[in-house]
Amino acid sequence: MNILERFRAPCGWRGGAKQLSVDAVIPLIAVPVLSFAAAQTLLCTIITFVTTPILVYYLHHNFLRFLLRTKFFLMWNITSVVLLMLVFEITVVPLLEILPEENWVFVISVVGGIGCAYQTRVKADSGNQDAALSHVIELGDTGGELCTTCRRRAPPLAYHCRMCQTCVLRREYHCKWLDCCVGGSNLRWYMGCLLFSAIAFIYGSNLTMTSVCHPFIFIGTILLPDDCSDVYHQLDIALCFVSGVYSLLAGLAVLRCLLYHLWLIWIGTTANERRLALAGGGGSYGHDMLKNLGHIFCCKAC
Ligand SMILES: [Zn+2]
Ligand SMILES: [Zn+2]
Repeated sequence: MNILERFRAPCGWRGGAKQLSVDAVIPLIAVPVLSFAAAQTLLCTIITFVTTPILVYYLHHNFLRFLLRTKFFLMWNITSVVLLMLVFEITVVPLLEILPEENWVFVISVVGGIGCAYQTRVKADSGNQDAALSHVIELGDTGGELCTTCRRRAPPLAYHCRMCQTCVLRREYHCKWLDCCVGGSNLRWYMGCLLFSAIAFIYGSNLTMTSVCHPFIFIGTILLPDDCSDVYHQLDIALCFVSGVYSLLAGLAVLRCLLYHLWLIWIGTTANERRLALAGGGGSYGHDMLKNLGHIFCCKAC
């Protein structure tokens, strides 16, 4: 058994319906451990936020990218959302700095984001099945581009995804964070997920930071955090602060992705077509670490 097979060796419930592979279990432990490590001092927070993307990069570079498909990023996503939600509801809300209606806006956007993410995955699967059923046109038939991997003719504007092992109509890319392809069948749900998630992350971060830090009035009723020097005196408050920073970073990344898709729609193309149009570089996994980090964390060109 080589290292890759050992890495992939499943663990879980014997005879159970589902088995989790090692790569999917890592985030369940890593995200809470890193959160507590980051909450110790300001220096720990800075070190954790700088080193975590690099660690994930090396894990991806050395192991994950050799797997046909990994649930590592999906599990990281789920663990983070659950943890952020728990910290917010158990620690931030009892501080009584937040109005009930503010909490409701936050909860509705979280539920909306999760609902749209679920639909994105469901529609991706059913979309793939529909495409497979309606386009089983054997070699030699006319119409559509020939996919050499599926060995059948794919509908126009369909591209093959090696992870989903099928051709996906109007494919954008394979989203690692949801572990499914984004394409014509689920783009609207995916964009809904990005919109709700951006609101939940950024608004949740703002509510958290203005609760644990000294706030100041920015415009009208909008508060921004001012002095956060006291947060490390109590572990639970430090944990709120760390979750607020994490939430803000995640929110900005999601917002950037949402703006990217709005721009693609504006110019009338898909991420996949644009990557092909840019010719060369885009899809390859080279040695440029910064570029690869972008690919890993922004779901592009994979
Ligand atoms: Zn194909
Ligand atoms: Zn895919």
